[in-house]
Amino acid sequence: MLFSEIIGQQEIKNQLIRTVSEQRIPHAQLFRGVEGTGKLPLAIAYAQYICCENRTATDSCGVCPSCLKFNKLAHPDLHFVFPVIKPQSKTVVCDDFIADFRKMVISETYFGVNQWFAYIADDKKQGMIYANESEEIMRKLNLKTYEAEYKIMDLPPGTGDIHLTLVQTLGITGAVVVTTPQDVALADARKGINMFTGEKVNVPVLGLIENMAWFTPSELPENRYYIFGKDGGKKLCEELNIPLLGQIPLVQSIREGGDNGQPVAENTDTITATAFTDLARKVVERVNFRNENQAPTEMVKMIR
Ligand SMILES: [Zn+2]
Repeated sequence: MLFSEIIGQQEIKNQLIRTVSEQRIPHAQLFRGVEGTGKLPLAIAYAQYICCENRTATDSCGVCPSCLKFNKLAHPDLHFVFPVIKPQSKTVVCDDFIADFRKMVISETYFGVNQWFAYIADDKKQGMIYANESEEIMRKLNLKTYEAEYKIMDLPPGTGDIHLTLVQTLGITGAVVVTTPQDVALADARKGINMFTGEKVNVPVLGLIENMAWFTPSELPENRYYIFGKDGGKKLCEELNIPLLGQIPLVQSIREGGDNGQPVAENTDTITATAFTDLARKVVERVNFRNENQAPTEMVKMIR
C-alpha cells in the first residue's frame, strides 16, 4: 500500500512521514476515525514506508524486497489483529483467518467490520478479538529481538494478569524493580519481588531502583529534600539482600526531557544523566553476572 494510493488525508500522511524522517517513530500509534476513511490502509502504508529499503521523501518505492512483501501483506514484521468469528467450541486466533483478511484488504481496501464478518461467515454473526489472542501477540513480539541487544518491558506495579502472562510466555532473564522510598510503594515493590523470586515463578531479581529518592531544585543543586522519606528502597535492598542499582533524584528536567522526547540521559555532563548512565551500567553488570552464574530462566508452565 503506497501513500499515493490512499485518497486524501494529506496532512496525516505528512505527519506520519515526518516521524520517519525525524527518526521519532512512536512505539504505538492509534488511528481513529469514522468507518470508510481509510485508517487501515493508512496504517499499512505507514508500516510499509517505515520498512521500505528505498523510500523517497514522500512515499515507499513499491519495488524493493520489503515493498514486494508488503504488496502481498506478507511481510514477516507485519502482524494483524482483527475480530474473528469463532466456530462453536473451538479456539481460534486471527492467523486462522489471515488468508481471507489479506484478500479482503487487497481487493476492497475500504471495508467496514460488518463486511468483513459477512465475508468470513454466512449468517449475521458478530465477531470479536478473543482473550487468547494476547498470548499470540506476545509470541510474535518474541520472535526476534530487533536491533537492540536487550529487550526491556515496562510492567505496571503489582502482581496482576500481565505479570503472570509474561512469565508464562517468555523466559525472562531478570526483573528490575522500581520503587519510590515511601512505605506504600515499598509494600508493592516487596510483593513484586516475592512474586518473581517465588518457587513457582523463579525469575531472578537483578536489583532495585529507588526513584524520586530526593528532590533537588535546579536553583539549589546541592540541596536534597527527602519528600518521600529517606533511603526506603536502600533499606529494602538490605533487608531482602538484593542489589541497589541506583537512587534517581526527583529533578524537574527529567520530567521535561521525557515530555519533549529528549531523554535527560543524552546530556552527558549533567548529574542526572550520570545517575542514569551509572544505573544502566549496573544493570548490564548484573545481567552478565546472572548469565554467568545461573541457568536460563524457564517459562512458567500453565496448568489448565
Ligand atoms: Zn520499498
